[in-house]
Amino acid sequence: MGTKDQLKIRALELGFDACRIAAAQTARHADYFLAWLSEGHQGDMHWLAREPHRRTDPRQVLPGVRSVVVVAASYYQGGSFRKGPGRFARYAWGEDYHDVMLPKLRQLADFLCERGGSQKCYVDTGPVLERDFAAEAGVGWQGKSTLCLNERLGTWFFLGTILTTLALEPDPPARGRCGNCRRCLDACPTGALTAPYRLEATRCLSYLTIEHQGSIPEEFRPALGDRVYGCDDCLEACPWNRFAVQARELQFYEAGPVRDLSLGQLATLSEDDFRMLFRKSPVKRLKWRRFMRNVCVALGNAGHPADLAGLRRLEVCGDALVAEHAGWAIGRIEARGAAVPPTPAGGERG
Ligand code: SF4
Ligand code: SF4
Repeated sequence: MGTKDQLKIRALELGFDACRIAAAQTARHADYFLAWLSEGHQGDMHWLAREPHRRTDPRQVLPGVRSVVVVAASYYQGGSFRKGPGRFARYAWGEDYHDVMLPKLRQLADFLCERGGSQKCYVDTGPVLERDFAAEAGVGWQGKSTLCLNERLGTWFFLGTILTTLALEPDPPARGRCGNCRRCLDACPTGALTAPYRLEATRCLSYLTIEHQGSIPEEFRPALGDRVYGCDDCLEACPWNRFAVQARELQFYEAGPVRDLSLGQLATLSEDDFRMLFRKSPVKRLKWRRFMRNVCVALGNAGHPADLAGLRRLEVCGDALVAEHAGWAIGRIEARGAAVPPTPAGGERG
């Protein structure tokens, strides 16, 4: 059995759901990516604009690279286990995927090292256009939602890449299978998918709740509804997710605080509480102030008068970003209360 076949078996043993190979060459959508950057669509994701030509060509990342190994791991948990308002994107229900994927990816790289290769491993954060190489390797095609789709996994999976100096035979690329569908575009609550395959990140609720550093523009706050972290609307709408297999990795089911705490309870977390509760979750990267910013918006949209005391404490917490969003939420809840007709003083009419 050749190195490539052994590698694929090893990847499945490690818990990955797919493992395929692309040639290490300039990414197919390099020009599109550079144009997207020049139009400023990356917003606060400044790292995307750092050394963009390196990002589009793995040969500038690892000298002598010959192949890109692309792996996928499903994080789909089936149904929903959160009761009550306060939605988190599904990928954040479990443990931080970087912490789960990278050690396994390094074990796969060790296997290639034993066969004489030099490797670099990346999960999401590296200078590699992962979705392009996933399409090139046949792991999945890029959907009109700009997400990567796989026939068996739908859209609910993480990608990882290994750049290697070993020459492994490339697998055939994936064929686009969106057809005439445009459900993701129709489902987007902010019109962030401005055209098929085109995302205006600065309008996207995932971007605004996770990547954006400052105040959430007021025009987008109502559309956030009760979301606290991310948005899955374009994923939920995708018909390929009807066939999605469930995650094999149990760590992606470890929901902890994402499942257990109400919106009102989330608003009472101190910075220490937040750090401790979310230490294993991808939510930790938001840090307390941006998390509270999001919780305030969700309460402004879905909270009740009982939440006002917590919001008033946040309004004087000393952090201008949190205070401003708390003030907005208080105004919204009070306005909803004022819109409810008062109970007649004389009780029920007989
Ligand atoms: S994540 Fe939400 S806001 Fe962003 S493109 Fe998808 S549906 Fe639109
Ligand atoms: S919803 Fe339809 S158009 Fe959008 S990614 Fe899925 S299959 Fe493609």
